[in-house]
Amino acid sequence: MSDSALPIRKAPPVHAPMSQFGIEQGELVIGGLPLTRLAERVGRTPFYAYDRGLLKRRVAELRAVLPTAIKLHYAMKANPMPAVVGVMAGLVDGIDVASAGELKVALDAGADVAEVSFAGPGKREAELRQAVAAGVLLNIESFREVELLAGISKELGLPARVAVRVNPDFELKGSGMRMGGGPKQFGVDAELVPELLARIGELGLAFEGFHLFAGSQNLKAEAICEAQQKSYELALRLAADAPAPVRFLNLGGGFGIPYFPGEERLDLAPIAANLSQLLERAAKEMPEAHLVIELGRYFVGEAGVYVTRVLDKKVSRGQVYLVTDGGLNHHLSASGNFGQVVRKNYPVTIGNRADATEREVASAVGPLCTPLDLLADKMELPAAREGDLVVVFQSGAYGASASPQDFLGHAGVVEVLV
Ligand SMILES: *Cc1c(COP(=O)(O)O)cnc(C)c1O
Repeated sequence: MSDSALPIRKAPPVHAPMSQFGIEQGELVIGGLPLTRLAERVGRTPFYAYDRGLLKRRVAELRAVLPTAIKLHYAMKANPMPAVVGVMAGLVDGIDVASAGELKVALDAGADVAEVSFAGPGKREAELRQAVAAGVLLNIESFREVELLAGISKELGLPARVAVRVNPDFELKGSGMRMGGGPKQFGVDAELVPELLARIGELGLAFEGFHLFAGSQNLKAEAICEAQQKSYELALRLAADAPAPVRFLNLGGGFGIPYFPGEERLDLAPIAANLSQLLERAAKEMPEAHLVIELGRYFVGEAGVYVTRVLDKKVSRGQVYLVTDGGLNHHLSASGNFGQVVRKNYPVTIGNRADATEREVASAVGPLCTPLDLLADKMELPAAREGDLVVVFQSGAYGASASPQDFLGHAGVVEVLV
């Protein structure tokens, strides 16, 4: 039998290397502090730590690659910690909010109101009033909002700055979460937009442009380019019916980060080239338009870790369990219960033994009385002991604010920016 007839065994997929944090004397270094010292500084576990330097580095890297005319907006639902939003407000061109609560944090952080936009499928009348009073741009998602805004604008004697959020007639292929195409609660179906634009014109709202958001957590550059192309084309078609020139064209985002084994970092080069082409077209076809992309997790996700302490180490019928002092209640997405179809492990390590050669297969589980409370399922990790610190990487987005912190009555999680 020749060698070529042997079955080819594919190596199992592995996590992309988590090289954003250094290792000193076996410890991960977060924001310049070795992990055990950071834990002492925080005073208790579990906690989230976000590295300020990494936030800056990420924005700088993006700016270096993308055309300079592209405006970068931070979708703050990814991480609404006020200190993080404060840093981001100083780095990006604008902040996208999705509630009056987020609007307050963005304004407190000093975001430029001209570059704050407010989206969301169910805006209360009170939220619309606050947004008009603040002077931010409202991404209109229904006919109801147009009527309400006309009344509010008149009553307050202030312009209602609006863009139309379009539910496109296509999807972002291969996205973790699809938010456009087909029937959706977001935005106004593309085919109804001309009628909506007419109403905006009749009522004298201050029309500024379009917002398209096709999906998120995408790691395929071609799919993102295709969605941006189609978004541009659609906006250009709709602009023919607009009551004023398009000054603001938000092409969405969707840039993903690698969470799971086998996932690789997004290649920005084709996206940059595609955006350059669109800018050239826009200069002729929509000369007043600024092109915007809005990103959440891509800015903050890789800059954050979740840190939880091993309370107990148990062996059950041969399987090692590290029982930690936090889990699903603080980090729903790492447990696999925030929109995932099949549970997979986030990248995890033992942060105070990050380069240990002694390794073992273990499961890290939280303290909750439910089998869903799982941070690492049978992963090869540095061999841990009680008191060690389990670190979940890629945790800077959709962590604390996206988790059911009251579930089972444990203490809430602390967040620090270092
Ligand atoms: C959630 C959301 C984002 C951010 O998504 P990420 O995957 O974190 O980049 C951007 N825009 C809109 C409209 C959103 O709803």
